[in-house]
Amino acid sequence: MRNIPVVMIIFGGSGDLAHRKLYPALFNLYQQGLIHDNFAVIGTARRPWSHEYLREKVSDAVHETHDEVDENSLKHFASHFYYQSHDVTNVEHYETLKKLAQELDDRYCAHGNRLFYMAMAPRFFGTIATHINDQCLTGSGFNRIVLEKPFGHDLASAEKLNKEITASFNEEDIFRIDHYLGKEMVQNIMPMRFTNPLIKNIWSADYIKNIQVTLAERLGVEARGGYYDTSGALRDMVQNHIFQIITLLAMPEPKDLTSAGVHKAKQALLESMIIPSPEEVKKDFVRGQYLGSDTTLAYKQEPNVDENSTTETFVAGKVKFKEGPVAGVPIYFRTGKEFKEKKNRIDIVLKHINNPYGQAYSNKITIEIDPTSKIYITINGKKIDQPGIRRENLTYEFSKSEMAKVPDGYERLLHDVFVNDLTNFTHWSELKRYWEFIDSVEADWQKENETGDAKIAQYLPYRMGPKEANDIFETPTEHWIYE
Ligand code: NAD
Repeated sequence: MRNIPVVMIIFGGSGDLAHRKLYPALFNLYQQGLIHDNFAVIGTARRPWSHEYLREKVSDAVHETHDEVDENSLKHFASHFYYQSHDVTNVEHYETLKKLAQELDDRYCAHGNRLFYMAMAPRFFGTIATHINDQCLTGSGFNRIVLEKPFGHDLASAEKLNKEITASFNEEDIFRIDHYLGKEMVQNIMPMRFTNPLIKNIWSADYIKNIQVTLAERLGVEARGGYYDTSGALRDMVQNHIFQIITLLAMPEPKDLTSAGVHKAKQALLESMIIPSPEEVKKDFVRGQYLGSDTTLAYKQEPNVDENSTTETFVAGKVKFKEGPVAGVPIYFRTGKEFKEKKNRIDIVLKHINNPYGQAYSNKITIEIDPTSKIYITINGKKIDQPGIRRENLTYEFSKSEMAKVPDGYERLLHDVFVNDLTNFTHWSELKRYWEFIDSVEADWQKENETGDAKIAQYLPYRMGPKEANDIFETPTEHWIYE
């Protein structure tokens, strides 16, 4: 693997994301040789840490995520880390940061390459990007910026943020990360769709009855009640992860696999996304909140949550496209907190065909994204000892040793940032379209809240969300496959 020279600056270097995801992912990339002798990482945050303390934290993070660690290798890796106490709102601090970055660039021969990673609250992203530019923190080589989610709270705030970022960085240097796009089975959607005649040729409204995307979380809001209450499931999960998955399922075949080719196909699809009318929002969307139990709190009792909150911890809805291979096919989605188990999966349900047996089970393709990674096709066959049809699964599954080789989404996406591959990052035009859809639903919900018409379904914790989610299907023969 090519060694990429770079000085990486992580804003939010003492935070949870840096600790749990970024440091372990960087260590793996270091072991593979992608970053090796010519790299330095500056962790910044407000706390008065030392270089040595950050290195200890980095080592802890690697130990916590790896069963076996080569201690010499880890020591050498950690020696490339430097800490700079920095308040991102203080202009003078960027001067100190600039000096350190330049010094490390010289020491590690980083060729003036800079990677800025925004691992902190999004309200700071615009300020940081502006200061990076104004205080000339950029280097003479490449200058890339990685932005965590959420990118805005609605279209207006996303547009404002985008303006601030693009005033300092070119679109081709902006990596808007959605870690779902780094997941093994999400990256399997395109090869599965486009390399199998068996699948490619049935990918249309002629054969597909509906598509279902479920991102189920077992946990409640935990300590994030304050943030979550201003967001909700629609903004937190649908605007990004669910829409990215739906886009991969519904987009036309790209001309080639370049980043430009893939984004062009996505954009062509998204232009034809139907924004739901207020009547459709009423009919096709369900929002819900989890109730409490003997041992757990109801959402409205969670710390820092408004006791009259209308924020949804569950949402189910429908998306349709006018163009593309599955134009007209209903794509149902649901996501929420306190499901019976953590499970991310996609079900592609095929239409029934008339057959001389007079019976058949639903023929479908299931992609399990988490916690297991597999694809299975549910097919009909004959019963052995009596007349009739039985159903079986044809399964594509990884062995344990293959699973062990699957990189974490962050590792894969950080790799792509280093090698300058934007394929699995969100282009602004896609993000904008997602927000247009979300804003329209949110606006209708807001009106319902104001007129007292809001219907917020209550659901028991650790089951499958509210029963009202069964009411969004277009026909009585449709239902949630995963239950
Ligand atoms: P966190 O609260 O754990 O960390 C925030 C960091 O920002 C800390 O290092 C803190 O010291 C620093 N900080 C705060 N104010 C500052 C200031 N004025 N100047 C300098 N530093 C300051 O947050 P997190 O969980 O690490 O999340 C960071 C980002 O990553 C957020 O955008 C979040 O939505 C996103 N994200 C996090 C996760 C995760 O698993 N933690 C997953 C997906 C996305």
